[in-house]
Amino acid sequence: MPSKGILIVLSGPSGSGKGTVLKKMLEKSIDMKLSISATTRSPRVGEKHGEDYYFISKAEFIQLISKNEVLEHTEYCENYYGTPTKQVNEWLEKGKDVVLEIEVNGGTQIKKKSPSAISIFILPPSLKVLRERLIARKTESIDIIEKRLQIALKEIQEAYNYDYVVVNDSLDECVEKICSIISLEKNKLKEKFNIIREVLENV
Ligand code: 5GP
Repeated sequence: MPSKGILIVLSGPSGSGKGTVLKKMLEKSIDMKLSISATTRSPRVGEKHGEDYYFISKAEFIQLISKNEVLEHTEYCENYYGTPTKQVNEWLEKGKDVVLEIEVNGGTQIKKKSPSAISIFILPPSLKVLRERLIARKTESIDIIEKRLQIALKEIQEAYNYDYVVVNDSLDECVEKICSIISLEKNKLKEKFNIIREVLENV
């Protein structure tokens, strides 16, 4: 039996603006929850444990994996990132829609485990804009920015495997598009489940 809520995978290269898009989406929907990932990377200025991420050590992360407590995980820029399973499943069971803001390896793992998850890839308008956004953000050194840009190029190739791609040129339009995708997909799923349930109950 499928869970009551839906799982939404939101990916996009570093600098695509997916964090800001997500914030707006969460403001618009009370039934949507954001999964908080675990990571071994150090907190950036202003980031809080339990709000932005669970900041844990490599040993703790390895333990999470060995206990099978993450839905997916990956290594990105020499750090581990993963989605803790428990909270996501609890929300889904309560009928909440859960967004995973994760990179492409994680997105692929989720689609394999939960084929009904909706995957959305946010693209920057161009690679030039992506570089400018990363520099303007001033959160990473130029070395790390270059590394993230190289990863971005590879990640964008993976966008072909996503259910939807949305360009983040105008923030409001991008959020609008994503919200309509989610509501369309939810209606499709609801209709499918209703038809199946009706047939099963009609003995
Ligand atoms: P950042 O270090 O900029 O916060 O995140 C780096 C990348 O890791 C981003 O693309 C972000 O979406 C991704 N990420 C964050 N949490 C997770 C996670 O739990 N799993 C995976 N696979 N990727 C994640």
